[in-house]
Amino acid sequence: MKLFVIGKPIKHSLSPLIHNCWIKKYNIDVKYEKKEIDLLHLEKIISEIRHEKIKGINVTLPYKKIITRFIDEMSQTAKDSEAVNTVFFKENKIYGDNTDGKGFIESIEKEMKFDFEKKKIFIIGAGGAAYGILSQLNKKKVGPVFVANRTKEKLNNLVNHFKSKKSDIFQSNWSALKPPDDTDIIINTTSFGMKKGELIEINYKGLTNSTIFADIIYKPKETEFLKFARLQGFKTINGLDMLIRQAAISFNLWFGISLTEQDIKNAKDICDKAC
Ligand code: NAP
Repeated sequence: MKLFVIGKPIKHSLSPLIHNCWIKKYNIDVKYEKKEIDLLHLEKIISEIRHEKIKGINVTLPYKKIITRFIDEMSQTAKDSEAVNTVFFKENKIYGDNTDGKGFIESIEKEMKFDFEKKKIFIIGAGGAAYGILSQLNKKKVGPVFVANRTKEKLNNLVNHFKSKKSDIFQSNWSALKPPDDTDIIINTTSFGMKKGELIEINYKGLTNSTIFADIIYKPKETEFLKFARLQGFKTINGLDMLIRQAAISFNLWFGISLTEQDIKNAKDICDKAC
């Protein structure tokens, strides 16, 4: 049997390295591969899961949203995120879940020893990853959330989507990019920072040095956004731990195995070497 991560482009995906490390450790008779596919082939791959020719898939850009059309039953998280990154077949149905937000929360809680309850949060970006993260923040009884995004319309859509579940979510000005005083955590969920020289410039005024700067980008290991924050004395974390932890949740959905912290560390060491 096989598992795939599908997307376009896909050649830089670290998911096969991560999953094959655990598949080997737990002696499971499957192989995890990457597959670049066109939009036209989404239906076919879902049919292969339905006919149990494929055990399941991870879905990445640009198909996380459009794949929802082919899913019979979505988890509440996938519904709230309006996106699916993990697909499997169970009890005659194609299931879709989204593990990105949970992976992010776990990463910050475990690696930064951070408790989200009542915390003030500033999010940069209103794309798929921001939806996934916000859907989970809602469950953590966080304090006020402020969101900034380059495209105003997408920011409006995101804030309106979450407003009914969280009344204290607010739009923040993109051109000023100023987190409120005493913000506890600032999260970059945009893809801006993946290329050399791309810097998201934050106005640091009013922040204390207990503020955490999180970037969900993991390549480069340190974006300019994180580098600047580190040099100002703030605590920082990149997206690699999130990537491993969201993968661990997918692994559990497929195989029912709860991975250990040592399994997480082993996968992280492998990715660190590959990055
Ligand atoms: P997406 O849906 O395409 O959203 C992209 C976001 O980036 C939007 O907010 C977009 O703003 C913003 N953006 C893009 N180019 C920009 C620019 N030049 N200046 C300012 N903002 C810009 O993508 P996504 O799925 O949310 O993923 C975003 C990033 O998260 C990617 O780098 C992805 O690899 C990473 N990610 C990491 C993990 C992990 O496990 N670590 C998981 C998921 C995603 P506009 O609305 O203005 O276009």
